[in-house]
Amino acid sequence: VPGEPVVQVQGGGKDYGGVHAVRDVDLTIGSGEIVGLIGPNGAGKTTLVNMLSGFTPASSGDFTVLGVDPNKVPVHKVAQAGVSRTFQHSKLFPRLSVLENVLVGAHSVSRPTFLRRLLWLPAAGRDEAAAIQHAANCLARVGLADKAQDDAGSLSYGDQRRLEIGRALAADPSLLILDEPAAGMNHVEADSLSELIGSLAQQGLTILLIEHNVGMVLKTCDRVVVLDFGQVIASGTPEEIARDESVIEVYLGAA
Ligand code: ATP
Repeated sequence: VPGEPVVQVQGGGKDYGGVHAVRDVDLTIGSGEIVGLIGPNGAGKTTLVNMLSGFTPASSGDFTVLGVDPNKVPVHKVAQAGVSRTFQHSKLFPRLSVLENVLVGAHSVSRPTFLRRLLWLPAAGRDEAAAIQHAANCLARVGLADKAQDDAGSLSYGDQRRLEIGRALAADPSLLILDEPAAGMNHVEADSLSELIGSLAQQGLTILLIEHNVGMVLKTCDRVVVLDFGQVIASGTPEEIARDESVIEVYLGAA
């Protein structure tokens, strides 16, 4: 819906037994924004995005993501509404080709089609050709077009993380949630990832970026939200966050 925020959360919370993993979080993300979500280990970042993407039911609060309530519909409906995500730990198939890894991520490829490819049976008709073309486009968007036929496991670490993003693009999302995409990357890889995220936003995607690499978040995002012990302790532009006393304290305290 034009003008509607992509994400709207009011009073979002999640309890695990007595543990308040997320508490009373308000969050609004507008279309085309790149929003960073930072905070120390255990601050509740993953729990919050699990609630947004329908992976974990919320304990409290109102959630609207691309027009659906992720607490009220099954996780595939949230994906169909246009939410796609990557995970903290890689879920690539190292022995499949780079292209095949993207095909697995695409809704357009049915499981039988995928199995037929694995077994080297003759390809089906136009649907499959279109799916392959679409997957190739996704690879091009993340700069991996020339590696389509390589085994995913043979890619450099940085390229594997890009491939995960390429696979998340296969579902044609409006909202892309990236869970620590720069983890383990060197400076050069993180810089190039930052550029990639900027270019995806230029293409109209809305991006929620969870990251421990604060420098990269400040450089990449339009707005940054800081969680600590499940609560939002600061939110603002990168410039505001960089000089926020409570944020500096949390990060110095955690060091
Ligand atoms: P990290 O940066 O380490 O990934 P995070 O900010 O993503 O941390 P969460 O993983 O969301 O933090 O965890 C928030 C809190 O909720 C932690 O105290 C964690 O131990 C707790 N927690 C998360 N998932 C569960 C679960 N399934 N059962 C019980 N407690 C949980």
